Amino acid sequence: MVKVAAADASFLEALPDGSVEMPVPTHPHFEVWQYLESVCDPEIPVLSLREIGVLRAVRQQPQGWQIVITPTYNGCPALEQMQDDVRHCMTQKGLQAEVITCLSPAWSSDWITSQAKAKLLAYGIAPPHTKPANLTPKRIRLVQKIAPMQVVCPQCGSDNTTETSHFGSTACKAMYKCLACMEPFDYFKPY
Ligand SMILES: [Zn+2]
Repeated sequence: MVKVAAADASFLEALPDGSVEMPVPTHPHFEVWQYLESVCDPEIPVLSLREIGVLRAVRQQPQGWQIVITPTYNGCPALEQMQDDVRHCMTQKGLQAEVITCLSPAWSSDWITSQAKAKLLAYGIAPPHTKPANLTPKRIRLVQKIAPMQVVCPQCGSDNTTETSHFGSTACKAMYKCLACMEPFDYFKPY
């Protein structure tokens, strides 16, 4: 695993703080972005690494391509598989690529595109809520007391749901149960 050293500040500065849009077809790296669009999140096969906000940058260097990814959280068990999948995708197209893991800025579930959130819902996973902005921890507690964030059932749309386990099939999801249709489902926790 290659980590970006602090000395590479200029490299980091160029990274967007948020999800990355697919470049326009006239973009010089469009084809590579298109290839990488086939690389999906190992835990959520309906989302590409770009859609979930993991794919950060594609750079052409004299020695080959550099693909920058940011794991969904530090210590994500799927990280190695994502690195392998990216390298495999590039190799298949005959391209030499180095995968660089960048931990700063840290990934946020707010980076998941709205299109990707709709796909999550269709796949049966309740998408993460957008994190409240500019609130101190004290005020967040207060807000949650007044209006707890309702997780809507991806099966029937009811908000009559309850958390059954804070850690679901993976650490980034919680297990919920819908009290209307009685179906269990995963909730992608805001992070
Ligand atoms: Zn339901």
